[in-house]
Amino acid sequence: MSKTAIVCGAGGFIGGHLVKRLKEEGYWVKGVDLKTNEYDNNHADEFIIGDLRDPVVCSSLFDRNIDEVYQLAADMGGAGYIFTGEHDADVMHNSATINLNMAEVSRKNNVKKIFYSSSACMYPEYNQLDPDNPKCSEESAYPAAPDSEYGWEKLFSERLYLAYSRNYKLEVRIARFHNIFGPKGTWKGGKEKAPAAICRKVAESVNGDVEVWGDGKQTRSFLYIDECVDAIRRLVNSNFTGPVNIGSEEMITINDLVKMVAKVAGKPITIKNIPGPTGVRGRNSDNTLIREKLNWAPSQPLVEGITKTYEWISDQIKQDK
Ligand code: NAD
Repeated sequence: MSKTAIVCGAGGFIGGHLVKRLKEEGYWVKGVDLKTNEYDNNHADEFIIGDLRDPVVCSSLFDRNIDEVYQLAADMGGAGYIFTGEHDADVMHNSATINLNMAEVSRKNNVKKIFYSSSACMYPEYNQLDPDNPKCSEESAYPAAPDSEYGWEKLFSERLYLAYSRNYKLEVRIARFHNIFGPKGTWKGGKEKAPAAICRKVAESVNGDVEVWGDGKQTRSFLYIDECVDAIRRLVNSNFTGPVNIGSEEMITINDLVKMVAKVAGKPITIKNIPGPTGVRGRNSDNTLIREKLNWAPSQPLVEGITKTYEWISDQIKQDK
């Protein structure tokens, strides 16, 4: 019999790609989200439109035996959503409620494994002040000092799942994602993240000007979606609980990312650095632990994923017109 899985947040970017991957691997998949996935055909065997803040909705998902739960649903967005402070209460309340509900129903329904998507945003700000030398190894998480309430909620929920693992023997797998990007993700409307926003700005620029929040010297690393899904599957199939980083170690400044996108687009551009929310000064994945435990590392350079993403976003812009 095929394995069964629930993907929470299947209407979103990573959830949509994960459903497709699980189907390719022969799983029976139930997706659940507030909305359908607008950029992908629905690959799930069943798709429930439901609010995971409601414990009744969460319980109703278990009308058959479920082997694995992938909990990716969260109230989230890019810097324009999580670093302005305007959405802090919603981000904390909505995501924590989803996680409290899903941990409890997974335990009650004897789920074999639950995967939880944490974020690099939970790492302390004091280790990420130097753009050239950020520290994001897993054990550096404490003493905790994330720079956003989004990060604090992720840290709380990591601990919640670990507590369920200790007290109820619920098998959990926890990953800390570092900036996942690629086609079929949010690219406009205020919740998009840096790579998608930059691809859109470059594609739409008429006079060559591209606005970048902050001085553009802040550093990040970006992981292509297919690599992320691969690492999730490897983690779930392993005996390793985590938390473990899933990210790339190819660190780049935001200004250099804009130049990379412009080169891919074949467009001459001028960067205009303007005030805006930016998050920490520097962040890079540290893949020492995932290499050791799962023998995993990204297989392609950033420019390859950026090329595919730019092509997809410029197609979306054409279709919008
Ligand atoms: P996304 O916003 O595309 O997907 C999240 C989905 O959760 C959305 O479709 C949303 O509708 C759904 N959702 C929100 N509230 C819900 C509710 N109450 N009930 C049901 N569904 C609800 O985000 P994503 O990029 O696919 O991220 C997936 C997960 O990975 C999130 O938990 C996110 O915090 C985490 N993460 C992502 C990144 C990244 O770079 N994309 C980085 C770190 C962590």
